[in-house]
Amino acid sequence: MEMPVSEIRMIDHNVKPGPLNHCQVCGSSDLELVLDCGHQPLCDSLLTAAQLHEPEPYFPLRQMRCTRCTLNQLDYVVEGSTVYHQNYPYRTGVTRELAAYQELMAKDLAARYRLNGTSIICDIGSNDGTLLKGFKQQGIRVLGVEPTQIASIAIADGIDTVNDFFNEVVARDIVREYGNASLVTASNVFAHMAPLGDVVRGIQALIGNDGVFVLENHYLVDVLNKAQYDTIYHEHIRTYSLKSLVTLFGFYGMEVFHAERVSRYGGNIRAHVCRRGSRQIEDSVGEILKMEVEMGLDKPAVYEKFRKNAEKTRDKLIEFAVAAKTRGQSFVGNSCPGRANTLLHYCDIGTNLMPYIAEQPASLKKGLYSPGKHIPIVDNSILFTEQPDYVVLLAWHYAEPIAADLRKRGLKSKLIVPLPECKILDAGPERTPISIVVPVFNEEHNVERAYSTIVEEFNKLPDYSYEIIFTDNHSTDGTFGKLKELATADPDVRVLRFARNFGFHRSILTGYRHAHGAAAIQIDCDLEDPPSLFPEFLRLWREGHDVVAGVRSDRKESRRMIALRRAFYRLLGSISEVPHAIDAGDFRLVDRKILDQLKTIDDAQPYVRGLISELARNQTGVVFTRQKREFDKSKFPLHQLVRLAMSGILSYSIEPLRVATYLGIFVSLVTAVMTCIYVVARLVTQHAWPSGFATTTVLILFGISLNAIFLGVIGEYIGRIYIQARKRPTVIVEQALNIDEQ
Ligand SMILES: [Zn+2]
Repeated sequence: MEMPVSEIRMIDHNVKPGPLNHCQVCGSSDLELVLDCGHQPLCDSLLTAAQLHEPEPYFPLRQMRCTRCTLNQLDYVVEGSTVYHQNYPYRTGVTRELAAYQELMAKDLAARYRLNGTSIICDIGSNDGTLLKGFKQQGIRVLGVEPTQIASIAIADGIDTVNDFFNEVVARDIVREYGNASLVTASNVFAHMAPLGDVVRGIQALIGNDGVFVLENHYLVDVLNKAQYDTIYHEHIRTYSLKSLVTLFGFYGMEVFHAERVSRYGGNIRAHVCRRGSRQIEDSVGEILKMEVEMGLDKPAVYEKFRKNAEKTRDKLIEFAVAAKTRGQSFVGNSCPGRANTLLHYCDIGTNLMPYIAEQPASLKKGLYSPGKHIPIVDNSILFTEQPDYVVLLAWHYAEPIAADLRKRGLKSKLIVPLPECKILDAGPERTPISIVVPVFNEEHNVERAYSTIVEEFNKLPDYSYEIIFTDNHSTDGTFGKLKELATADPDVRVLRFARNFGFHRSILTGYRHAHGAAAIQIDCDLEDPPSLFPEFLRLWREGHDVVAGVRSDRKESRRMIALRRAFYRLLGSISEVPHAIDAGDFRLVDRKILDQLKTIDDAQPYVRGLISELARNQTGVVFTRQKREFDKSKFPLHQLVRLAMSGILSYSIEPLRVATYLGIFVSLVTAVMTCIYVVARLVTQHAWPSGFATTTVLILFGISLNAIFLGVIGEYIGRIYIQARKRPTVIVEQALNIDEQ
């Protein structure tokens, strides 16, 4: 951008603390809002426990854009000495990935500019000297400039460091002592410095006629494309486009002769700058400038999209956090780079949702509290002992190496990356999916407790994941409403609501048919059967049993009911062709093989317990004591139990038919014998017996009642044939939540 000489003189690039209403580079006052992050504390002003009791300053944090040179900048600048206070905790060398990156950068630059023992390299904002170490290893003389106490770490490490803010005076002192620098670097600091004019004049003096200045910083295009709103914090008073850099150096007789986009921090720009005319301008500069124009960096649309994406990822992260909390699962943070605090404030996540942030053992931030939100920062060894359900990778720009490292050390948690798309990075080590099938009918007081107890049990089973399938037999109370809430909060809760009450067995059969797990466990909603048996069920299943049934040793109910149930199971066992587990109810685990077979069963009046016994190849039981129902009374009154018993007998036995036959034969034999006796008596005695009216009547009535019983039994079978012949679906589903196929 060409500027008339008179205008150049007018622009003061030394930015003063306080509100900003003009562009820091081109001076234009035509600024537009990009994103308002509210007021926030300084992201690297971590607090000690004692400081938690003191006031904490907050500053405006709004990102603006210059419509002229496309620079993005904050509209408020905090005093440098406040930002880079003596306890400034940022240390380059701590992040292994960053240290490796800088070593590579040193090698690249040394090769490109053929640096050798006669060269001197100066790094502005040299931190603990990590970048310079890379040059020093190659025998190049190095000098750092670092304003914070971290300089002492570099000095102790043998890296000469000036402990001061870089400016023109410091630069001239360096030139006097060491001569001009062949290379001046500014890695991730050039967007931070407020006295920009002073800094650029210092660089100008330091590189002299032939030196090169290489700056690297977060790049506006990557910030926008990846919704990196977390790069907006008080230290980043500017976010550069290449156009804005070209404009800036134009004021100082310098020019960008090479530019490259590099991966660090989720997307950086590295610009190579020299005295105007001292080097050939490479194609890379024109190419990137062209891309910026095509992207529309000077138009509002791209910023509108950025804002929408930032909001979307924010809402998603909040959703994850709240859902985890609802389920009683743990949700914690890993690593606390400065940008994490913008993210936590923008998403409004505090200790209520995230109890701690884990940091590497060498981090200076350990033992402190995050600014504003006051989340304790702790040693990351806690992750491996606690194995939280969710770990948010706040340093998401290093998500892959961090995730690989955490996994290698045995972390099983689900890892969430908040940006550029908020998602679960991977499910961790493969977990075996188990379906929990819960038939419900008017259980509004039980569903939530059942859900949370089941989830709690699975939280103790890191090798398994769950899906909970509620089959609602058209409850008439608030049950379905509660199920809806659970399904909204937890995508692993599936609900099938039937159009009417189809009975218990069709309800559970439908549940089994929708189960996707490697095994399914059926459990009553009232939790009379304890979910604490899940681990034992799963263990026996792993041993090769395809059905593991809960066997009740002592039900806490009336003696009459116990006796009735016992008698029923024994009767069923003795007359049925299929073995039944004595005293086993519907609390059982069923293997995938059987679940698949249940899908093919075409029985409109299913007796599931029997079906499963029939299909089982290797059945076993776990003895347990049933708990008394805590809420409501049993949903199985006596008449329903009798119906269930009838269903069991009729589905699995033709004995009733045989009984009828035997009885018929027996009665006809008795009749024949009686007739013989009567005839013989008449012949022998020649005596007129009483008319025998009573006997005849009894016999007739007996015959009629026998007929009625037989007809009833036959009718039962015909009824079943009829129902089967009608080929109706097992159930009619009215509503399905979190289930795809219906
Ligand atoms: Zn501007």
